[in-house]
Amino acid sequence: MIRLTLLLLAGITASAADRLPPESERQLAREIYKEMVEVQSGFSTGATTPIAESVGARFRAAGFPESDVFVGANPRKSNIVVRYGGSGARKPILLLAHIDVVEAKREDWTTDPFTFIEKDGYFYGRGTADDKAQAAVWVANLLRYKREGFKPDRDLLLALTADEEGGGPYNGVDWLLKNHRDLIDSEYAFNEGARGEMVDGKRVANDIGLGEKQYADFRLEVRNKGGHSARPVPDNAIYHLAGGLYRLSSFSFPFRMSDVTRAYFGQMAKIEKGPMAADLAQVATGDGDAMRRVAAASAPMNAMMRTTCVATQLEGGHATNALPQLAAANVNCRILQEDSVEDVMAALKKVVADDQVKITVKTNEGPSPTSPMRPDIMKAFSRVTDTMWPGVVTVPTMAVGGSDGRYLRSAGIPTYGIQGFFQDRDDVRAHGRDERMPVQSFYEGQTLLYEIVKELASAK
Ligand SMILES: [Zn+2]
Repeated sequence: MIRLTLLLLAGITASAADRLPPESERQLAREIYKEMVEVQSGFSTGATTPIAESVGARFRAAGFPESDVFVGANPRKSNIVVRYGGSGARKPILLLAHIDVVEAKREDWTTDPFTFIEKDGYFYGRGTADDKAQAAVWVANLLRYKREGFKPDRDLLLALTADEEGGGPYNGVDWLLKNHRDLIDSEYAFNEGARGEMVDGKRVANDIGLGEKQYADFRLEVRNKGGHSARPVPDNAIYHLAGGLYRLSSFSFPFRMSDVTRAYFGQMAKIEKGPMAADLAQVATGDGDAMRRVAAASAPMNAMMRTTCVATQLEGGHATNALPQLAAANVNCRILQEDSVEDVMAALKKVVADDQVKITVKTNEGPSPTSPMRPDIMKAFSRVTDTMWPGVVTVPTMAVGGSDGRYLRSAGIPTYGIQGFFQDRDDVRAHGRDERMPVQSFYEGQTLLYEIVKELASAK
């Protein structure tokens, strides 16, 4: 009764309070979260090993056998994998999060990025959103299952990994797949890559990430014999390159829809207002005019409907008073699963339309197949979302950026971005300054992940 009165005084309804884990579980998750945020695990200057070791100690103290806790292998930037043993009736589920973060400088922030601060309803600190909330919640939830005596019908594998944010492909998930696939081999994985969306403080959509675009960089390069700039000739490396880039600036790849993007636009139509809502519904049916209007109105939605390429870097010339011998540009492309690097190369050559401009592939992260909309996962995700936040729609998404999910998907482990941490759609600070997570969203996500994993790992 006292609790209810306090909640009412705080302006929180009883149903909202029901979405939160018990007080002791919230405290544990917060304690782990704080500890993780306060370890400086920036991918170039920091270390993840203190987190891996501390998490390992928690599981050992909770009675997990030594053989089910693996810490390795980079001395400074270790990963940790923990096995929560089940009956083995089905293949395991992998619970993934990365424990490295984007670098953060004290002078760029209002507060110290590596001090965990709770203020005005938010947790502040580097990694509070990306990706230590999920890492802390996975740990807290597994410890809770253990205390509650939960016996899953399949192993739950926890992997907290390093080097997601730029450490290169020789550590983290990629390294585990190549060297210890047995530790993380699973029927499917849950990872970052989607969240809950709030508009003006109101929860509107809960996203589930099914795929991501392929990352590739192309180099456009023009070589020229050059000469004295007092005697210019029309055959100029910079002009050749500039002409090609100018033609690229007004080129767009054709729209290509998939099951996931059709479902995405169909669901988004339910939460948009005004003429945009009608257009989104039309996009879901493949209406070309509606696609053009939506693409013009929204850069993120445009990027979901087509492959994109954009100039991101330039170099050229060697003196102010000489004709350039070199002009080059980097063109960054984000490629839909329906297109390939070869398709993009052919399109770039056609658009640039100048033999002097040599085009080569500089970086190609390779394709990763979109994960299927499995009925069991989609149903569990919708059920828990409907229970916790009535009226919030679930939205399948395809990320236009990248995550470690691509390694798993390429290796044949379907991967789903599931977090349930609601954040304002227009206030996403991951990788930026004053990164934060709403306090209420953190604990609600703790409940969502607890419920979904439990449902999918319980014998039918
Ligand atoms: Zn991340």
